[in-house]
Amino acid sequence: MTRNYEAVIGLECHCQLLTNSKLFCSCSTKFGEAPNINTCPVCLGLPGALPVLNRVAVTMAVKAALGLNCKVNLESQWARKNYFYPDLPKGYQISQYDRPLAQHGFIEIFVDGNHKKIGVQRIHMEEDAGKSLHEGFPDSGRNTYLDFNRSGVPLIEIVTDPDIRSSAEAYDYLARLKQILEFLEVCDGNMEEGSLRCDANVSVRKAGDSKFGTRTELKNINSFRFVQKAIDYEVERQIDVIEGGGRVVQETRLWNSAEDRTVPMRSKEEAHDYRYFPDPDLPLLVVDSEWIRTTDRSMPELPESRRRRFIKEYALSEYDAGVLTATRALAEFFEETAGLSGQPKIAANWIMGDLLRFYKDSNADLKDLSESPVSPKMLTEMIALVEKGTISGKIAKTVLEEMYKTGRQAQQIIEEQGLIQISDTGEIEKIVDKVIEENPKSVEQYRAGKTGTLGFFVGQVMKATGGRANPQAVNDLLRKKLAG
Ligand code: ADP
Ligand code: MG
Ligand code: ZN
Repeated sequence: MTRNYEAVIGLECHCQLLTNSKLFCSCSTKFGEAPNINTCPVCLGLPGALPVLNRVAVTMAVKAALGLNCKVNLESQWARKNYFYPDLPKGYQISQYDRPLAQHGFIEIFVDGNHKKIGVQRIHMEEDAGKSLHEGFPDSGRNTYLDFNRSGVPLIEIVTDPDIRSSAEAYDYLARLKQILEFLEVCDGNMEEGSLRCDANVSVRKAGDSKFGTRTELKNINSFRFVQKAIDYEVERQIDVIEGGGRVVQETRLWNSAEDRTVPMRSKEEAHDYRYFPDPDLPLLVVDSEWIRTTDRSMPELPESRRRRFIKEYALSEYDAGVLTATRALAEFFEETAGLSGQPKIAANWIMGDLLRFYKDSNADLKDLSESPVSPKMLTEMIALVEKGTISGKIAKTVLEEMYKTGRQAQQIIEEQGLIQISDTGEIEKIVDKVIEENPKSVEQYRAGKTGTLGFFVGQVMKATGGRANPQAVNDLLRKKLAG
């Protein structure tokens, strides 16, 4: 670590659950609707309204807890977290405090070739607040608008142990967390849109020290990269403070992405005292063992297990297996193609080498792979056409791109565009003869030992056939003829 210091980091992540309705009322959670459309007395915090718990939200939270290797508490408790803010009309948020839904889990990360477990201290459920929108300029009057569509949307907060030792580890932790939540289909993990929010607690200590240093909490970070940058900045800042003879003060700081630095927001003295107490409107949350068992049975295979299985079952490399399990949709797409074609390695190459590139180039979301214009069946048909020699591998690349753009079948495209491979050696031989005849100088060089010019001849033949000649046949014929 920098200048003989070690960083100690703990992350607190808020994840929006993908339920259709809110946590304590039946209002829709749909994103992007007209302001305040999805509201009712409960989520507007009107006096006398009573919360009714959404069972699906709890099941999703339990799923997340199991996916993060946590122990789910049979009883947990709703607590009021009291504070005032215009977007929190009740004056408190329903959350959990000393009796959270789940505890004692971990996420396995993989950094610099090392596997490491990051402890998940606890997972609690809570409702989201509304949204304040500040508009206008100070001199023309500044207005704040309130949108309560988000008020009451279910969240889980996932708190790690202070086990993270670098910004790279923090980044990997977040990537794994997002991946697991996506596989479980409980959160879409989009940091830019706020469905995954992360605060980072950071301290430093002299290498070898057993006691933790004083920490600061970094807020307002809305991308994976910014988490990494904010931590890096903060670690350096704290070391500077200590090396300068000062002491790090416990405070909350904001990440300013425009200036690439963290700035103080509030000190420990100004810290909120939320005066948590059990919410008298809600009974204990009881998740019995049957509920946990049923949820456990509905769990999909998780990324790490899939990755290992891909290596074993399909003889993929570590790297390929990692790429192909990046999202659940991708893993499923691969498995379906591998199964249909019976050619896992070839399927992996086409998906990783070509299909993923089209997705990247067109900025499409990999999660949408399940609705890909090229289905596993279509890709399998294309692979079969290459295997049979109907088209060359090179032509297949353009065919696949066309398939991706138009959603049409490989067979249709190659027939329409006349792309069928020429494997008739008689036909190829004629072209080979012509190329040899037209390039006496190169032939002379070749025969004088400059066999590296073979590529030139192959290129000429390919050019003459629009790339359709069977490359093996071209090579064989050229070698034979050039040998004289
Ligand atoms: P709070 O109640 O203030 O949120 P917690 O004890 O729950 O505090 O810790 C919040 C987060 O801070 C956790 O992720 C924890 O791992 C982390 N944390 C605690 N102590 C330190 C420390 N000295 N340095 C870095 N992170 C820490
Ligand atoms: Mg906290
Ligand atoms: Zn409501």
